[in-house]
Order: sequence, then structure tokens, then C-alpha cells
Amino acid sequence: MNVLKDKTVVVTGSSRGIGREIALAFAREGANIVLNARKEVDKELVKEIEQLGVKSSIVLADVQHYDEAEKLIETAKEMFGSVDVLVNNAGITNDKLLMRMSAEDFNQVINVNLTGTFNTIQHVSRIMLKQRSGVIINLSSVVGLTGNAGQANYAASKAGVVGLTKSVARELASRGITCNAIAPGFIETEMTAVLSDKVKEMTKAQIPLKKLGSVGDIAQTAVFLAKSPYITGQVINVDGGMVMNG
Ligand code: NAD
Repeated sequence: MNVLKDKTVVVTGSSRGIGREIALAFAREGANIVLNARKEVDKELVKEIEQLGVKSSIVLADVQHYDEAEKLIETAKEMFGSVDVLVNNAGITNDKLLMRMSAEDFNQVINVNLTGTFNTIQHVSRIMLKQRSGVIINLSSVVGLTGNAGQANYAASKAGVVGLTKSVARELASRGITCNAIAPGFIETEMTAVLSDKVKEMTKAQIPLKKLGSVGDIAQTAVFLAKSPYITGQVINVDGGMVMNG
């Protein structure tokens, strides 16, 4: 039997890109999906998901605000009776060289990518602790492991997600809750579409597999982690070999 059938999956930032594909991938596994974004989620996506024979709903919430993250998680629980999988995918960039990066530029990215991830985890953990089961998957990035010029704010937020993931994994493991991170390399989405062709070509040249990743590469890793109860506290690089850990 498919372990994800009839489970409730919350995917933050699922209006487009990686989050959208993760939502669809879990729906194909028979899970009910709670979609989220700050302002809008295309209702067509709800229809597309429901055509897969599962239920889906949209909860608008800005995860960087503690009370809005609470609304997201509590509404999901009220709608579907449980929250079994939380995917913290919502993220932003605001790239600038250090000398040009204002404190506001730095904090804005930390607030969404790191504090937002903490906010939803804290609310969902209350539910998962009572259930004595749950899966938490956080989107980090390879630049959180390596650093990147022009991304001090983003890399710091994604490195923070790694520390948060490992700490949560240790705290909640005894209650049957797993917490892992996915560190994508260069994935083709709207987030990376803003980069010039020159930058994309230079990046591709540095990737051992010589191609950019797809949203499907990340989505299938998220499903794999949700089906792997003996994996916790890990960071899975999905990056064509860009970073090879020893
Ligand atoms: P994207 O910009 O295409 O989508 C981001 C999503 O997050 C959107 O749906 C947006 O509405 C939502 N969002 C942003 N701020 C939010 C907030 N405060 N509250 C709720 N939702 C919010 O990005 P993507 O490329 O699909 O990336 C998804 C995740 O993967 C991000 O965490 C990103 O940092 C990470 N990642 C992406 C890449 C890549 O190459 N695309 C690489 C490494 C990591």
C-alpha cells in the first residue's frame, strides 16, 4: 500500500516552481494537498490536483509572520484532520554584493527563508508530537553549504536551515518524526530565470552532470524522503554533482 495515500501534505510557497511540482508529486501519491503562497495560488492548480483523485485547498499566509504560519498549519489540520508532511519550500532571493547589501536586504531574506521555516515547524510540531508521527522536509540550497558571492543573505539563511533541520531532527526523533533538508543546485524555475544566459552557461559548465536540474528532480526527492522513515537529520544534495560531501 502507498504510505502517502490519504495523508495531509502542506507545501509552503506552492504557487509555482519547485513547490508547485512537489504538491503535484504528493498528489500523484494519493495525498491531500494544502497549497500556500502569500497572495495568490492559481485555482487551476487546485483543479489539476483534484483531477488526480485527491482533495486540495489553498491557504494564503506569509510564513515569515508567526501568526500567519500558525493559521496555515491550524487551517490544514481543521480541513483534513491531521498534518502528516510539511514541506518548507517558500523562499526568496535578493542578491547583492556584501558592500551593497543593506541590513534590510539581509533581514528580509533571513525572515522568509529561515524564520519562516522555524515558524511553520514550531506550529506543526505540536500536531506531530500528539500524532507521534510526521515528516518535515526543508528546502535548503547548495550555496548554504558552499557560500556564494552576492548571496550572503541567501546563503546564510540556507545554512541556517541546515542547522535548524539537524536540531529539529534530534529533538523530535524519539516521537517518530523525521526532519531532513534538500539542497538543490541550479534548478530551472522563475527564481533562476532572472539570471543571464552567460551565468547559466558558466554554471552548467561547473556541474559534473553538465545540465541544470528540473523541478521534478526535487519533487521526487521530497517524496522519497517522505517514504523513508529511517532517514532523519540529513541534507540531500540534488545538484548534478556540484557538491560532493566526504
Ligand atoms: P520560486 O521563486 O519560483 O517560488 C517560490 C515560492 O515561494 C512562490 O510560490 C512564492 O509565492 C513563495 N513565497 C515566497 N515568499 C513567501 C512567503 N513569505 N510566504 C509564503 N510563500 C512565499 O522559487 P523556486 O525556484 O521554486 O524555489 C523553491 C525553494 O527552493 C526556495 O526555498 C529556494 O530557495 C529553493 N532553491 C531553489 C533553487 C533553484 O535553483 N531554483 C536552488 C536552491 C534552492
